[in-house]
Amino acid sequence: MNIRFSEEDERFRKEIAEWLADNLTGEFAVVKGRGGPGDEHALFEERHAWEKKMGADGWVGIAFPKEHGGRDLPLNQQVIFYEEYARAKGPGRVGHIGEGLLAPTIIHFGTAEQKKRFLPGIVSGETIWCQGYSEPNAGSDLANCQTRAELVGGEWVINGQKVWTSGAAWSDWCFVVCRTDQEAQPKHRGLSYILVPMKQDGVEIRPIEQITGDSEFSEVFFNDAKAAEEDVVGGVNGGWKVAMGTLAFERGASTLGQQMLFNNELETIIEIARKNGKAKDPVYRQRIADAWIGLRLQRYNALRMLSGAEGAEPGRESMITKLFWATWHRDLGKLAMDVMGADAEVMDGAPYDLNMLQRMYLFTRSDTIYAGSNQIQRNIISERALGMPREPRPA
Ligand SMILES: Cc1cc2nc3c(=O)[nH]c(=O)nc-3n(C[C@H](O)[C@H](O)[C@H](O)COP(=O)(O)OP(=O)(O)OC[C@H]3O[C@@H](n4cnc5c(N)ncnc54)[C@H](O)[C@@H]3O)c2cc1C
Repeated sequence: MNIRFSEEDERFRKEIAEWLADNLTGEFAVVKGRGGPGDEHALFEERHAWEKKMGADGWVGIAFPKEHGGRDLPLNQQVIFYEEYARAKGPGRVGHIGEGLLAPTIIHFGTAEQKKRFLPGIVSGETIWCQGYSEPNAGSDLANCQTRAELVGGEWVINGQKVWTSGAAWSDWCFVVCRTDQEAQPKHRGLSYILVPMKQDGVEIRPIEQITGDSEFSEVFFNDAKAAEEDVVGGVNGGWKVAMGTLAFERGASTLGQQMLFNNELETIIEIARKNGKAKDPVYRQRIADAWIGLRLQRYNALRMLSGAEGAEPGRESMITKLFWATWHRDLGKLAMDVMGADAEVMDGAPYDLNMLQRMYLFTRSDTIYAGSNQIQRNIISERALGMPREPRPA
């Protein structure tokens, strides 16, 4: 692994740090530090304006090739970008599903026409996307997806239900895994990856109230919803490989930004422990030290993976990433509440005004579920990385 920052990298660090200092002020001061875990619903309009500002100044899609509106930045500079963004307390990105999941998918699997139509809206920060995979009976078992799409009169007509769709309530488009062949065996062969406009009569969104009191995700019902015939990525019935490709892009350099966010949370916890005396308690000192070590391990594992030290394809090491960070972050939530002590049980205001660490704690309960539950991650590690026998599957 060779992650050393050159003089040019350090010049880049200065450039992005200055841009953030100059711009996260004035009308954007309000979004500083907002929109993190459990706070995703906050200040959507203001954070969308911020996303567009980033887009206008060329800070969205920094890793994309220049021909697709990106900066084609090398890995070192992507790392620096995410580090400085989190250090400056840049807000949670409303465009992250478009930028981090859909755009790389279109660049990899899309047609020239799809690239031309969909990438500019993401790079400008204008278009907001959500991910329509999970259904009431298809979560871990995505291949069981039942939402149907049929070609009628030259367009897709979609019927079915998705659930837990993050950001559905404020998204313009959704990439939806649909069944386009009812008979296909095995069942993942009959799926297609269709780009569906959210703002149409055939799409009904019912927000789900979460433990934080907000609704970051929703149920989405498709009742004769329409999509253009050409808006299938990866070809009709070719959706499985595309859907799996999208999941792989979740492991990009932005995981390093996530770690800086975690670092901000850990520092807040340490500050509270210093103030309330828990930092002198050997048990808390040990738990805080363990959290600090866990964060460094995540960083070095991510750098090892991203620097290609294990070869062009992500190696076995990449398979531990989700399980490790999710479990670590869930434990950090518990540590935060324990360090706060009795204060953790008191709201900042009536009726349900949670502070940042309370939100974080409640949201971390979901870390070990979304983007592949811990049990599924363990199956992946045991079967694919360690070559253990496959778990029995239904015929
Ligand atoms: C905060 C949050 C945001 C989300 N955002 C989105 C989104 O934007 N778009 C989207 O499509 N989905 C989203 N999801 C849904 C998420 O992808 C699913 O919750 C997840 O895939 C698990 O599926 P499930 O909830 O149906 O649980 P199930 O798959 O029913 O699993 C239930 C339990 O059984 C275990 N289990 C299942 N299969 C196995 C197995 N083979 N071996 C061992 N154990 C097993 C699981 O680990 C889990 O503990 C989100 C979820 C959360 C919590």
